[in-house]
Amino acid sequence: MELWRIFGEALEPGETRRLSLRVPMGGLPNQGQTLLDGRKRADYEMPAILVNGAKPGKTLLVTAGIHSGEYNGIPATIRVARELDPERMSGRAILLPCVNTSGFWTMHPRTLPEDDFNLNGQYPGNPDGTVGERLADFFVREIFPQVDFILDFHGGSRGERMTPLAFFPTHAPVREAALAAGMAMNIGFLIESQATKGEYSYAAASMGIPGLLVERGEGYFCDPEWVEDDRRDLLLLLDHLGISPAPAGMRDTALKRRVFREAIYLEAAREGVWHPAVKKDQAIQKGQRLGTLEDLFGDVLETVYAEHDGHVLYLNCGLAAPKGELLVAYAVAASEA
Ligand SMILES: [Zn+2]
Repeated sequence: MELWRIFGEALEPGETRRLSLRVPMGGLPNQGQTLLDGRKRADYEMPAILVNGAKPGKTLLVTAGIHSGEYNGIPATIRVARELDPERMSGRAILLPCVNTSGFWTMHPRTLPEDDFNLNGQYPGNPDGTVGERLADFFVREIFPQVDFILDFHGGSRGERMTPLAFFPTHAPVREAALAAGMAMNIGFLIESQATKGEYSYAAASMGIPGLLVERGEGYFCDPEWVEDDRRDLLLLLDHLGISPAPAGMRDTALKRRVFREAIYLEAAREGVWHPAVKKDQAIQKGQRLGTLEDLFGDVLETVYAEHDGHVLYLNCGLAAPKGELLVAYAVAASEA
C-alpha cells in the first residue's frame, strides 16, 4: 500500500500520527485564533489524530467540539483515538476531537469566539473570509474529499434537556447509508434532517458524503456515562463501516430504535419567561399544552401547544427565552417509519 498523504503529512500503512492541525488564516490582521490570554495566533490550530489502517478500506471523519460547550464527544473521541490499533484496521480515521478549540479554552458557549461563526450552520464558508468562514472552507476543500463517512458529535446547549438522538440526511444518494449506520449504533431516535448548511449536512447535501450528527448529553455538562455511550457508538460505527472490529455484544439489540421523518422545532415568538409543561423523552398529543411564556410579572404572554401527536426530543429547561430561542423540539408521530 502506498503512503497516505494528508495535511502535508505522509503516513505508512499501520501508522498513527498526532498533530496540531494548522488551518491557514492567510495573515488576517489580528484575526487569527484567540488564545486564552487574549493574544492572537496567525493560523488556527486544532488537535488531530490520523490513523492509517494496515489494509485499505473506508475513511471516517469524526468531529467533536464544533459547538464548544457540547463536551462529551470530545473525551469519547480522544479515548477511541488511543484505543484504535491501526494494524487491525482496514481503512482510515481522521479524528478531530476539539474543532472549536478557541471556544473550548475560552469557554465561549457555542460558536467560534473570533467571529461568532456557527460551524454547524454556515457552510461552505469562504477562503477569503473570517476565521470561521476559512475553517469551513478548509473542511470543504482539504478534508471532505478524503472521507467516505462523517460522524459529528453534539449535545444539548445551555439550559437544554436532551434525549440521545442522531440526525441523518434526507438527501437521496446518502440517506440509506447514513440511516443504516445510525441503526448500527445504540441510539433510540433517528431523525431525518433537511439541513444543508452544517458540517455533516453540507457534506451530505453538496458532496454526496453520508454522515450522522449525534446529540447526547445536555446543559454543558460532561457526565461519564455520556462519554462512554459516545465512545461505544463511535466503535460501533467503525465496525459497521468495516474499518475496525468492535468487541462482540457492544450493540444493544434490545434497544428499540425509532425513525422519524419529521421534527418540529418551536421557538419563542417573543421574549418571555419560559415554563415548560412537558419533559424530554415524553409522548405528547396534538393540542397538549407544552408550556407558557410569561412576562416578569407572571402574566401569561403566550401558551404553546403541540400541533401534532409526537415525542419530545429536547427542550429548553432554562428560564429566559429571548425571541427566537428554541423552546421544544419534538418528533411527529405520524411520520414514524
Ligand atoms: Zn451542537
